[in-house]
Amino acid sequence: MARQGTLSIHSENIFPIIKKWLYSDHDIFTREVISNGCDAILKFKKLCDLGEATDTVNEDFKVTVTLNKSKKTLVFSDNGIGMTEEEIEKYITQIAFSGAEEFLEKYKDKMSDDQIIGHFGLGFYSVFMVAKEVEIDTVSYQTGKAVKWTCDGGTTYEISEGQRPSRGTSITLFINEDSETFLDYYTLKDVIEKYCSFMPVPIYVIDEEAEAKKAEEYKKALEEHKEGEDAPIAPAAPAPINDVQPLYTKQPAECTDEDYKNFYRSTFHDFNEPLFWIHLNMDYPFRLKGILYFPKLANQYETVEGRIKLYNNQVFVAENIKEVIPEFLLLLKGIIDCPDLPLNVSRSFLQNDGYVTKISDYITKKVADKLISLSKKEPDNYQKFWDDISPFIKYGCLKETKFNEKMKDYILLKTTEDTYLTLKDYLEKVAETSKDKVFYITDQDQQSQYIKLFKDNGLLAVYLEHPIDSPFISLLERENSGVKFTRIDSDISSALKGEATDKSEEENLGKLFKETLSNDKLKVSIENLKSEGIASMLLISEESRRMQEMMKMYNMQGMNLGMPDEEVTLVLNQNHPLIDALMHKDLTDDKKALLCHQLYDLAQLANHTLSPDAMHDFLDRSNKILGMMIQ
Ligand code: ADP
Ligand code: MG
Repeated sequence: MARQGTLSIHSENIFPIIKKWLYSDHDIFTREVISNGCDAILKFKKLCDLGEATDTVNEDFKVTVTLNKSKKTLVFSDNGIGMTEEEIEKYITQIAFSGAEEFLEKYKDKMSDDQIIGHFGLGFYSVFMVAKEVEIDTVSYQTGKAVKWTCDGGTTYEISEGQRPSRGTSITLFINEDSETFLDYYTLKDVIEKYCSFMPVPIYVIDEEAEAKKAEEYKKALEEHKEGEDAPIAPAAPAPINDVQPLYTKQPAECTDEDYKNFYRSTFHDFNEPLFWIHLNMDYPFRLKGILYFPKLANQYETVEGRIKLYNNQVFVAENIKEVIPEFLLLLKGIIDCPDLPLNVSRSFLQNDGYVTKISDYITKKVADKLISLSKKEPDNYQKFWDDISPFIKYGCLKETKFNEKMKDYILLKTTEDTYLTLKDYLEKVAETSKDKVFYITDQDQQSQYIKLFKDNGLLAVYLEHPIDSPFISLLERENSGVKFTRIDSDISSALKGEATDKSEEENLGKLFKETLSNDKLKVSIENLKSEGIASMLLISEESRRMQEMMKMYNMQGMNLGMPDEEVTLVLNQNHPLIDALMHKDLTDDKKALLCHQLYDLAQLANHTLSPDAMHDFLDRSNKILGMMIQ
């Protein structure tokens, strides 16, 4: 016979788990307690509006966190709704029984916008991660009677008469030894700023002893103050640490550029101005508010490190959550507030949640729309911003097909004429000289010789210098079949060459270089280059170079996979007097060898540095050549 039973969970078993494992970040208790205080105030205000309670004194609603290092206590105090003895029994002593949920249920028809935070993980009990004892002293708006609840983190508690003189709740945490870092004023303030910067009720963080000391000093100064001297300055009244109506909660039409810039500065402590921003504001089919900023890069090689802070109803949840925010958007800086997000569940749940996918798609679409409208309405700005925003856009195109679909006609190429062209416009422009071919530069310093050659001949190339450009080029080639990207040092555009050269001369000269340099594999080609300033240069085959780069990326260097080395061709310009001399003058073998070595090294030097040995030979040889001048 089968038998059924009920699993019983005892608080003795569950408490140690809560304390140790509930959250890896113990600082989260501040968020839980302060959000409860805010809720208590919002509930009270709501009841006043509904005429179910009266706010006779028209008081300042606020949550105050008071630190006392000597007593090792933190007191969280609010002038909200308070609790009756029954409510304490019900909401505090029965774990996971949410008063916020009940309140919302009861007033759901009367609430315009449910601002109540509530339901954040395990809530109140997170205090036992940092406190060895907790005391609640509370006065409910209903009874006006002070009730005190104490619990030492075990499974029993005590309820007695409290001392609180007025409506609201004070929660005192006696901080345990492991958690004394929270008794440092600046640590505490940092933590509270992290979680509570945008909470809807003013929050004060006060160091009781420091304030008392300041007051004492002021009092003394007043007593000692003599007629005719400057009056002592009274200590400044503490200011709230939060912004109860952060910019992103406002309507875009109400916000000025200056507002956006200030908000960026104060939120991200970045004193570079953002390039531009997107204000997200939607109610349907889900609620989402936020501002995404495009940061300015310090230089083109900087790896962009963004920060997207995720909020739930003005309560900070976490930063850079990949499951909600498309990965490429993590390069931006911004705030996203999503009140409907199920945040008390695990990240793996978020990954598979259809709702989360919708949010992520929405944000992606908004970002693409903004970029497209910028490119259409303010093309000058779009071009001006291009260098800064292109790594982000390219990364987005590589990561998100939908984003790529939208953006692909708005990708720009920066040319050697300092213009920005779309691929289509670029190809039209070079149709005569190099059809379907894009010559690109990955390193202006290394490739300067080639760039000069191109410019001298009135040819165009584009700058693709960011690490993201290498995979991005592959994407462009896949999408535009027939179009070939070729690095500027890998091929000689036909436009750079004159008439075809004599093949038999090429063979002779090739033989000479191979023998002199004892390099059988060296490829030599003689070209009729229009530029007279260049005697020799190296070309590195595009395919073999890409293969090498790929191997480097996957860390496969040194593995013998039968991959070819970079395929290098030594190009000699027959229009140059030195090459002409090698071909037609009757030089001694010594001089011929000297010329071959030197021309080869010079071609290499225009491309990369020499190995120590080769460099030593090169310098030796150079001095020898100079020596010939004074003979
Ligand atoms: P939740 O906030 O999700 O409801 P908590 O564990 O954080 O869960 O809190 C449980 C309940 O205790 C709250 O819903 C509320 O009814 C009550 N409570 C906690 N803190 C306060 C407070 N400062 N003032 C009034 N009631 C409070
Ligand atoms: Mg709560």
